[in-house]
Amino acid sequence: MLITLVTIFPEMFPGPLAHSLTGKSLGKLWELKIINMRDFAPDKHKKVDDTPYGGGAGMVMKPDVVHNALKYALSFYDKPPKIIFMSPRGYVFSNQTAKELSKNQNGMIILCGRYEGIDQRVIDHWRKHHKLQEVSIGDYVLFGGEIPAMVVIESCLRFIPGIMGNSESVNDESFVLDLLEYSQYTKPAIWKEYNVPSVLLSGDHEKIASWRIAQSKQITQEVRPDLWKRFISRK
Ligand code: SAM
Repeated sequence: MLITLVTIFPEMFPGPLAHSLTGKSLGKLWELKIINMRDFAPDKHKKVDDTPYGGGAGMVMKPDVVHNALKYALSFYDKPPKIIFMSPRGYVFSNQTAKELSKNQNGMIILCGRYEGIDQRVIDHWRKHHKLQEVSIGDYVLFGGEIPAMVVIESCLRFIPGIMGNSESVNDESFVLDLLEYSQYTKPAIWKEYNVPSVLLSGDHEKIASWRIAQSKQITQEVRPDLWKRFISRK
């Protein structure tokens, strides 16, 4: 899968993605291309932003610069990739979205905004002609789309066969069934005044499985009533 990032901070990548399982599989199971939007600024100062029409604080990224950078990014794909604009105004990203994105064979282009965001006309144009989607990583605002892009990439890569050592574990984690995961323990069996729950030492796999399901349900009800409601309505 080819993932292309369109950013004004190319030096931020691959960053954390160069480590652990994402790093080991980079260049083998997935490729990363970074496009610096400043290369598409026509003036000698490499200006990518300007003041907002209507006034107000901050700056807005210029449509021609963003458009030309996206056009260049698109030239690396034979088939239309998914085009994602990281934006707090987008649909909120979830494990399910990550799973769906990972199935897309054509790869993706991720556009990272900065300042107050990007001129709306370029977003509208790419939505109309290339099915651009706005994706948010949650109800808070960051300075730029680079960290959100890393979140999206890492969570998608977990669903690509071969990237995770144990492919079972991707289907046995929080959110898969609209439940949070049960608690995990490792050796030693006694640490300070805390014991590992005895059922986990019993060797009885059926009992362990039921204990884990009960734990998942309990913690989801307590912490995430929204998820719990979804889980209940599945039945
Ligand atoms: N003025 C915008 C607003 O209020 O919706 C916020 C702009 S933010 C400071 C600059 C850029 O950071 C955005 O264009 C987007 O690319 C990125 N960003 C910030 N928060 C984000 C989030 N929760 N999810 C995805 N991208 C985000």
